[in-house]
Amino acid sequence: MTSSVTADGNLFILAAPSGAGKSSLIRELLNKHHDGSMQVSVSCTTRAPRPGEKDGVHYHFLTKAQFEARIEQNEFYEWAQVFDNYYGTSRTVIEETLKQGVDVFLDIDWQGANQVREAYPQVQSIFIMPPSLTVLEQRLRNRGQDSEEVIAKRMAKARAEISHYHDFDYLIMNDDFDASLQTLEHIVLARRQRMPLQQMRHAQTLKDLLANGQ
Ligand code: GDP
Ligand code: ADP
Ligand code: 5GP
Repeated sequence: MTSSVTADGNLFILAAPSGAGKSSLIRELLNKHHDGSMQVSVSCTTRAPRPGEKDGVHYHFLTKAQFEARIEQNEFYEWAQVFDNYYGTSRTVIEETLKQGVDVFLDIDWQGANQVREAYPQVQSIFIMPPSLTVLEQRLRNRGQDSEEVIAKRMAKARAEISHYHDFDYLIMNDDFDASLQTLEHIVLARRQRMPLQQMRHAQTLKDLLANGQ
């Protein structure tokens, strides 16, 4: 018998240089676990939508003025300037989703990761590494969604993002996609078995197991 008390969901950060594969990994993990037990946080951004990107699905696309108004109103759990644009995570969405016992993934940069660690020390952070800079550039090109100028900017920033890898709890070397997906899944599933959560979920069973004469 499981307890009716619900435990908060787990918060995970995925960070990586642009093109390393974090969005694809999160997307496939969610495809595999479509039971409502996990969600990706939809960030707000001032960058222009890429072809095929939908407002409210990939990002909430805001103007600079709208974004700055939300900063003023303290609406962001974290925000940062990345590649000349603002990116931020809505505070209420994160807090409410975790409260419902749902695991939440944040696809954010290292500056945002630092802010989230301060606000929420239990967060588990995962760094997704490309096997080489050459492969990273190839992936950005193959993705076929950014101009040459944007790709050059992202490659120039890649080293700076990579230099923060040691602040993260886990490192996934994303060479073979399926192997990386499996590793990510293992990290998430292991986190769900941690003692305080299990004590809450299985309170009655644990009580029964420890009862005299049982
Ligand atoms: P309007 O709805 O066009 O007046 O503009 P808003 O500034 O209200 O919303 C712009 C976009 O932000 C829409 O895609 C909304 O779904 C999204 N949005 C509204 N409120 C929130 C919020 O609290 N957090 C996040 N992340 N997105 C929001
Ligand atoms: P990010 O979200 O980190 O910017 P994406 O998930 O958009 O990166 O991935 C960038 C591109 O690389 C996509 O076209 C994706 O299909 C591809 N990709 C991701 N992981 C791998 C991998 N292990 N091997 C080959 N291609 C990959
Ligand atoms: P992209 O434009 O490729 O989707 O994202 C560019 C960079 O911005 C990536 O490093 C991504 O992790 C980061 N990013 C996306 N959303 C957020 C966010 O809400 N907060 C922060 N701090 N970074 C974000």
